[in-house]
Amino acid sequence: MRSITVKSINLYPIAMTLVEKLRTSFGEEPFKACILVRLETDEGITGWGESSAETRPGYSYETVGTALHVLSEFLIPALLGKRLSSATEVPALLAGTRGHPLAKHAVEAAVWDALAKANEMSLAQAFAAHLPPGHASRGYATVGVSIGIQPSVEATLQIIEKRLKQGYGRIKLKIKPGWDVELARDVRAVYPDIVMMLDANSAYTLADADHLKQLDEFNLLMIEQPLGYDDIYEHSKLQPQLQTPICLDESIHSANDLRLALELGACRILNLKPARVSGYTESLEIYKICIENNLPLWIGGLLETGVGRAANVAFASLPGVTLPCDISATDRYYNPDITEPPFVLGANSTLSVPTGPGIGVEVQMERVEAAWTRWQDEMPYQS
Ligand code: MG
Repeated sequence: MRSITVKSINLYPIAMTLVEKLRTSFGEEPFKACILVRLETDEGITGWGESSAETRPGYSYETVGTALHVLSEFLIPALLGKRLSSATEVPALLAGTRGHPLAKHAVEAAVWDALAKANEMSLAQAFAAHLPPGHASRGYATVGVSIGIQPSVEATLQIIEKRLKQGYGRIKLKIKPGWDVELARDVRAVYPDIVMMLDANSAYTLADADHLKQLDEFNLLMIEQPLGYDDIYEHSKLQPQLQTPICLDESIHSANDLRLALELGACRILNLKPARVSGYTESLEIYKICIENNLPLWIGGLLETGVGRAANVAFASLPGVTLPCDISATDRYYNPDITEPPFVLGANSTLSVPTGPGIGVEVQMERVEAAWTRWQDEMPYQS
C-alpha cells in the first residue's frame, strides 16, 4: 500500500435543502445540516468525509457546533503532518479525545478515501482488504426506505404505495406510543406480504413489554431500538419476551458494546451506522463479530449527502451485510446532491457501488460553496 501524508484538512459546515421536509420531535426542518471534511495529501490527493452531527443533540449528543470545535481543536491537529499507510491507524491517533464518534468518523472517512485514491482502489476494495477471504464487495447494496411518523394511517399508506412503486423492497415505519399496534394492523391489512419493520427510536420502557408483544402477530422483520437510547440490559430482558427480533441501533457504539449485547441476548439483529461507532475501522471489527456470530447486519443512514452515502453504499455491499439497508436513492433526499452521479435505485431494490477510486463520486465544489453559504445565512449558529 502507498502511504499518504496529511497536508491540510478543511471543514465545510453546510445546510442542504431536503426534497421532503424532515419531521422530527422538534418540528419540521427544511434543511439537513452536516460538516464536510476535505483532506489534502502532500501529493495533491483529495479525500472527503462527512460528519452527520445535526444542529440539535437529538439522535446523538454531538451537534455541528461540538463537531466543529472537536475537529478544529483536537482531531485535525492530531492528524496534520502524519504519514499513514492504513486508515485503521487513525483511531489510535485520535484516542486522546474521548467520545465524539460522529466527528471522528468524518476525518477517518476522509483518510479512507484519500488512501484508496492513492492506491487506485475503490473504498469497497479497501474495506474488503481488512476482512477474511470471501468478503469481497458484491458490487451493490440492497436497500429499503424509512417512513417517518405521518399525520394519519391514510397518509402512511399513500407513502408506502409510492415507495413500493419506486421499487423499494423493504418498508420501515417509525413508531411511538399511540402509533404502533393499530398502525401495524392497518398496514398489514392492506399489505399482508411486504417486508416490513418498525423503528421505535427509544420511545418505550420495559413496562411496555406486554404492549409490544402484540406486535408479534404482524410478521415483522424486526423492531428497532424499542428501549433506552443508551440501554443494553433492559433490551436483554425484553428480547426473550418477544418473538420479533430486536435490532439495536442507538445503544451500540463499539465492538465491545456489541459483544455485551450478544452475551446478554439483548438483540438478534444489528443496525450499524459507521458514524455512530467512530468510523469504518470500528465498523470492520463489528462486521467481523457479526459474521462470527451469524448475526444479521444492515447499515443505517443519517441522511448523508453523496459523500457519506457513497462510502456507506460501499460498506453495505460487503456480503456480511445480510439485510436491506437504510440507504435510499439520492432523489429521496436531495435535488441536486453535492456529488455526481446520483445514486439511482436499481433492480431488486439495490444501489450500485461506484467503481472509481475512493468514494467513486465527484464532489461538486460550487454546490458545496452554495450549501456552505446557506449554512451561514440560515442556520441557528455559526462556525
Ligand atoms: Mg434507528
